[in-house]
Amino acid sequence: MGSIVLKNICKSYNGDLACSDINLTVKDGEFFTFLGPSGCGKTTILRLIAGFIFPDEGTIHLADQEVTSLDAEKRKIGMVFQNYALFPFMTVRQNIEYGLKVQKRAAAEIREKLRYQLEMIGLGGLENRKVNELSGGEQQRVALARSLVVEPRVLLLDEPLSNLDARLRDRMRNELKLLQKKLGITTIFVTHDQREALTMSDRIAVFDHGRCVQVDTPEGIYSRPATSFVAGFVGDTNLLEVNRKDGYWYMENRIRLNADLKPDTRYISIRPQDINISHSAAGSTDHGLIGRIEFREFNGISTDYSIVSGGIRFKTSALNTTLSTGAFEPGDEVTITFTNGSIHELQQ
Ligand code: ATP
Repeated sequence: MGSIVLKNICKSYNGDLACSDINLTVKDGEFFTFLGPSGCGKTTILRLIAGFIFPDEGTIHLADQEVTSLDAEKRKIGMVFQNYALFPFMTVRQNIEYGLKVQKRAAAEIREKLRYQLEMIGLGGLENRKVNELSGGEQQRVALARSLVVEPRVLLLDEPLSNLDARLRDRMRNELKLLQKKLGITTIFVTHDQREALTMSDRIAVFDHGRCVQVDTPEGIYSRPATSFVAGFVGDTNLLEVNRKDGYWYMENRIRLNADLKPDTRYISIRPQDINISHSAAGSTDHGLIGRIEFREFNGISTDYSIVSGGIRFKTSALNTTLSTGAFEPGDEVTITFTNGSIHELQQ
């Protein structure tokens, strides 16, 4: 197995930078996620690690071996692509065995490894089925088995769940995570889905325009975003510009804050669930603002409200428990409250 270390990696296509100054260490056995919007360079970095393309600058190490200019087939890396890239007219067995046959392994070893993989992915009995006769979830498992059978040092997964429907996606998410932990294989998972990243990862790297802007645990990324981009991209939030005037801080140049922020603060982020909503006047809290409900959205477990106060639109989210005191209606005048403890200060 192995760790992955990227140092000062830069790559451009025809003069346009796809990723720049990437410095990352993925630890041995870690489930590490690259998260970011479309076009931010995630796949490029994955392909650099796999050896399908080579960096303009920087170095790549796999388990203490420098592989920066080593060919893909010599890196011992397993990769699962978004479309799985299976051989459609081959059977499940032929697809899984393929890598072992290329490596000219003995027939008995191939048989045993095939049996083990089929059992692990739960597709025993389907080995003679052509892969184009399988469901999306089954194909995904074959793609995984095909990359795992050659015992790669690391596993790279490029949005492998994106073609699945919502329920299957949830199931495969759990299965994939369990399998990864069972095998202890260092894994990089690429996604633009923040929920997928938060639920599956040991750590997450967030990318924005070809740069890695934060690396942290899911909890760290969510509760201590490093930039306004991360705060807005990972989870819902109230992202407000702040400025200082006559010794006081103001949100969006409109509402005065009863808080003393760090001098270089440019934005604050307040999560919707940290803003309380009530019909009554504010009690003892740092901030109490009168506003009007613009609209509400019932989501089963919670209800989200959009509330306009002093010309600023706030998002709040209230849990629907059996003790909930009832819904608020669009047009209602309400008080929203939050404490200074729920304000996250951002410098960029
Ligand atoms: P997505 O989530 O849509 O797959 P991504 O974050 O994986 O996006 P990349 O595929 O790494 O992003 O692309 C980063 C940038 O490099 C984009 O601007 C893209 O258009 C460009 N790019 C990627 N591959 C090539 C290529 N082969 N030739 C030219 N430009 C490319």
